[in-house]
Amino acid sequence: MKALIKGARCFSAGARDPSFIEQVNMYFEQAANHLMEVNPKLVSKDLLEFIKVPKTVIKFNIPLRRDNGSLEVIEAYRAQHSYHRVPCKGGIRYAADVDQQEVEALAALMTFKTACSDIPFGGAKGGVKINPKKYSERELERVTRRYALELSKKGFLGAAIDVPAPDMGTGGREMSWIKDTYSYIFGQNDVNAAACITGKPMNQGGIDGRPEATGLGAFYGTRYLMNNKDFVAKYNTTLGLKDKTVIIQGFGNVGSWAAKFFQEEGSKVIGIIEFNSAVYNEEGLDQPDLLAYWAKHKTFVGYTKAQVFEADHMDVMYKSCDILIPAAVEKSINSANMTKINAKVIVEAANGPMTCAAQEHFDAKGIPVLPDLMINAGGVIVSYFEWLKGLEHVRLGRLTKGWERKSKKELGTLLGVSLDKIEKLEGPTEKNIVYTALEEIMCATAKQVFDYSQKANVNLRIAAYAETIAKIAQTYKEAGTTF
Ligand code: NAD
Repeated sequence: MKALIKGARCFSAGARDPSFIEQVNMYFEQAANHLMEVNPKLVSKDLLEFIKVPKTVIKFNIPLRRDNGSLEVIEAYRAQHSYHRVPCKGGIRYAADVDQQEVEALAALMTFKTACSDIPFGGAKGGVKINPKKYSERELERVTRRYALELSKKGFLGAAIDVPAPDMGTGGREMSWIKDTYSYIFGQNDVNAAACITGKPMNQGGIDGRPEATGLGAFYGTRYLMNNKDFVAKYNTTLGLKDKTVIIQGFGNVGSWAAKFFQEEGSKVIGIIEFNSAVYNEEGLDQPDLLAYWAKHKTFVGYTKAQVFEADHMDVMYKSCDILIPAAVEKSINSANMTKINAKVIVEAANGPMTCAAQEHFDAKGIPVLPDLMINAGGVIVSYFEWLKGLEHVRLGRLTKGWERKSKKELGTLLGVSLDKIEKLEGPTEKNIVYTALEEIMCATAKQVFDYSQKANVNLRIAAYAETIAKIAQTYKEAGTTF
């Protein structure tokens, strides 16, 4: 492994951890060096450089008239990293510390993530430099509509161009405003206007299963590998998820859904860490109960069914567990805390939660890291289904549900199934289709990446990046890069 990554810039423990964009580029370079060695006919240095860089980045300033009458100027970004497939796809983040580099890094990750799962999109990401908690709903609506208007005017929004989705600090509400603004401008000429964005509420053309998709996808991918004999043998763990102990950092969208699915599988979710507090119970936490408490109080302080940590909340992240799931922010596992981590498997549900030094540390210890681009793709996979639904203008399964019910009943009758059982046979709901298709893609991707890592003797991250870069390189080789 070491021999394959020579030349890649990699900080070791104790050195300064890289910026997020440096981190993504370092992982890219490691995989690129590996590909140059094993497949020099496919990739060349100049093609790799072209694949690596973002293709278009815009920055603009949004004037916001605040409720108190004052005028504020807010920075906004959209980075389109790759056009090897179109439209581009990636969330919009509202956060006080968003900057161009972060948006570029996240856009690059989206390119690699979609290619890793064979979802036919290029990567993109948007950011608005704003702490949404400090603005009223009306102010947020004005910022969001102006952001959508600017993207539309500049040719950065549309079902065939660039299709954003929620990310940290945004959700279905913002997606509805963006859809409405775009449809208001272009709806009369674009019958697919509503497919300009995903992550919409159901009533606005959203899809059943999108909110839970990332947590559910991370669960499916992890379960697949933990049920794979070769994987558990290689990493010296045991088969299955039942009774495995799980610790999760971040109890927002991804973390809370992941907790629910692991718990339902029989795992014990023993620790949850949030930005201001943490909870720990070695008998297992009760996800629905804890979520209701968190939703009400926005702190775990006062929760009586577990040990609560406040100032020392990070201690919970370092407790012994089978599976650690960082599902909060970038670089939460880094050179300063990697030696304190006490997990047998790490599942990167967040984007970029681990620095290069930490990855090297876990490689040396033989601890598998299921990398973000492979394991947290559930959201974009189900967004892809929502985009298809928008283009088709019909709920998934609506046209075939009756036929499937009828066929099942006929088959049941032929096979001599009892009448009361036949009566219960149904066609699939939209959620049935979303869940099974998501599981299929997550498991196929996990298998592909694990098989590659075995064959090439590289870690799962290099395997995921290498496969992904090879797919993009093949596309450019066939389609060309210049006119
Ligand atoms: P979210 O805003 O719903 O949840 C994030 C949670 O992390 C919040 O509850 C927040 O309080 C908590 N948090 C923030 N800083 C923390 C810290 N230092 N320690 C512990 N907790 C902290 O966001 P989300 O949608 O759940 O996204 C979480 C991560 O997953 C991000 O990295 C995001 O980019 C990534 N991701 C999200 C999706 C998706 O579909 N939502 C898809 C792929 C990747």
